[in-house]
Amino acid sequence: MKDKKKDIRALTKEQLQEFFVAQGDKSFRGSQVYEWLWNKSAHSFEDMTNISKATRQMLEDNFVINHIRVDQMQRSSDGTIKNAVRLHDNLTVESVLIPTPKRTTACVSSQVGCSLDCKFCATATLKRMRNLNPDEIYDQVVAIDNESRLYFDKPLSNIVFMGMGEPLMNYNNVMKAVEKITSKEGLGMSSKRITISTSGVPKMIKKLADDETKVKLAVSLHSAIDEIRTTIMPFNATFPLEDLREALEYWYLKTKSRITYEYIVWEGINDTRKDAEALVRFCKYVPCKVNLIEYNPIDDGVFQQASSDATHMYESMLERNGITVTVRRSRGKDIDAACGQLANKSS
Ligand code: SF4
Repeated sequence: MKDKKKDIRALTKEQLQEFFVAQGDKSFRGSQVYEWLWNKSAHSFEDMTNISKATRQMLEDNFVINHIRVDQMQRSSDGTIKNAVRLHDNLTVESVLIPTPKRTTACVSSQVGCSLDCKFCATATLKRMRNLNPDEIYDQVVAIDNESRLYFDKPLSNIVFMGMGEPLMNYNNVMKAVEKITSKEGLGMSSKRITISTSGVPKMIKKLADDETKVKLAVSLHSAIDEIRTTIMPFNATFPLEDLREALEYWYLKTKSRITYEYIVWEGINDTRKDAEALVRFCKYVPCKVNLIEYNPIDDGVFQQASSDATHMYESMLERNGITVTVRRSRGKDIDAACGQLANKSS
């Protein structure tokens, strides 16, 4: 029977050092291998050229390196890149590189599929298969960082957890990935450049605040009226706006970090003055800004982008009330890479 080898990247640096000491080697060897695995993103033990051949063979005998593989890369006419990512167990997720003149942003996935059932989201049509491991999240970022350097001549500047899955439902692994992304043995990026975008899980928002991670927080709000939000995002029945509000107030009290609300205006769903007034009221609870996002219809056509008059009505009402608002044009529509469109169609 073939032994199942362990994924070496599931070990912490300390565990790796202990492994080498137990083998009669120096703990320093563990640090060297750790650097190869994370900072240099080695895909095989053979790549570790400053490690002796015998040690490389010993690693080969005991471990595997479960790297992701970018199966397919699609480029949009607006420069956006979408990667179809194959995992070691053959499941797939998607991640996106969004370039603007000033920055390149990686939108990464945290789960295979999603257990939440947001009615406007293509990912919701995929059953949640499993959480991504920290290294699978990290690898998506490294792949996009490489593409950013190759195609846009600059390193990746920002990361948003807004791909497939609800990041706060895979909290521990997402945080371990953030730790790697920000550590000097990893990519050395600032946590201020990382945004966790959640549909709003109150208990986990509080935990994120308690853990002093220094990441930014975005909430997919889409309605500030419970009855409407519940029809769009059914889990709102379990975590109503009052609970979300309380968690967000806690977040701000602890972190002093302004929240971003992601908001799509749909025709016949949330496009009236009453809807906009409710949003303005909600925005007054905690310092925030609002991104009004252009919608990309998914196949069933129930949700349609509201008229530009409705968007302008929201924009001017928010501005009149002193709330920062940005209208975000859709990116990567032609390759199904835009917000809410990730559904493994390319694979
Ligand atoms: S919007 Fe996010 S949380 Fe909602 S179903 Fe889609 S991936 Fe899941």
